[in-house]
Amino acid sequence: MISTKHLLLSIFLMSLFTAVIKRSSQGNLLNPIARPAISRAMHIQSIPMWEGTGNNYAYLVTDDKSKEAVIIDPANPPEVLPILKDKTDSGAIKLSKIINTHHHHDHAGGNSEILKHFKLPIIGGKDCDKVTMTPDHKSTFNVGEGIKVTALHTPCHTQDSICYFFEDGADKAVFTGDTLFIGGCGRFFEGNATEMHKALNETLASLPDDTRVYPGHEYTKGNVRFAKKVLNNDAIRKLDEYSQANKETQGKFTIGDEKQHNVFMRVNDSNIQQLVGHDKPVDVMKTLREMKDRS
Ligand SMILES: [Zn+2]
Repeated sequence: MISTKHLLLSIFLMSLFTAVIKRSSQGNLLNPIARPAISRAMHIQSIPMWEGTGNNYAYLVTDDKSKEAVIIDPANPPEVLPILKDKTDSGAIKLSKIINTHHHHDHAGGNSEILKHFKLPIIGGKDCDKVTMTPDHKSTFNVGEGIKVTALHTPCHTQDSICYFFEDGADKAVFTGDTLFIGGCGRFFEGNATEMHKALNETLASLPDDTRVYPGHEYTKGNVRFAKKVLNNDAIRKLDEYSQANKETQGKFTIGDEKQHNVFMRVNDSNIQQLVGHDKPVDVMKTLREMKDRS
C-alpha cells in the first residue's frame, strides 16, 4: 500500500529531478555543460552588401570554442557595423582582425570606418587601405583555438589578391574575393591569363576537393549563362538549376564542384579547346575571358 504521503513525496522528487535535467540540458554561460559529441566546425556568417547592385559578400568567421572572430571584406560599414556591434556587445564574438582579399574599394573600402569603432589589425594585400600585415604566400595564422588560415597569393584581378584557406578540423573553406567566383572568375584588371591560370588551376585547384568556396560577389546566374554557351555538362546543368532556385550560392559548392562546372577551371576540356580554337591552357584561359568580357 502506498500512502498519500509517499505518493506526494514521489511526485515532488520526480518534478525536482525533471527540473534539474531540463536546466542542465539548457546549460548556462557561467558553467557551460558538455555539448553533444559533434565535430567542431567554424561558424561562417555571410553578410550581403549592396544587394541588387554590387551583390558583394562580407563574411564573419568565428572559432566556436574561443569565440574569436575575423571579418572578411567589410566594405560597406552601414550594413556590417550593426552586426559586429551586436555580436561584440552581447559577448557572442571577440573580433580580432579585418581580413581583405584585395584593395578594390568594394572590398577594402570600409576599413577606415570600421577602425573608428574597433581597434583591429588589417591583414591583406599591400595596396589595401590601412593594411598592417601582408602575409607571405602559403604562410599561416590562427583564429582562436580551432581555425588555421593559409594565405594564398593569387595575383591577376589585382596584383595584391590573396585567397584565404580556412581549416577547422575536417571543415574547410576558401575565401576567394574576386579571383574565383562560383562558376566564374574575376576580370584581369592588373594581370594576365598566365597568372589567372596559375591562380585557379594550380593554387586553388590544389586545395582539397571538399573545400567550400566563398567568393566576394554573388555572380552565379551570369556565370552560368556564359558557361552554357561554352560547354554542356551535368555539373553546369545542376548549377543552373540551383542558381535559378536559390538567391545565394556562396558556400554551397566546393573546389571539386568548380573543377566540373567552372569553364575557367576546365581549360583542358577538349570540347572547350575546340570551341575556342586553342589547346594551350593559357590561350584557352585568355580567349574564355575575352569572350566573357564581351558577353
Ligand atoms: Zn575587385
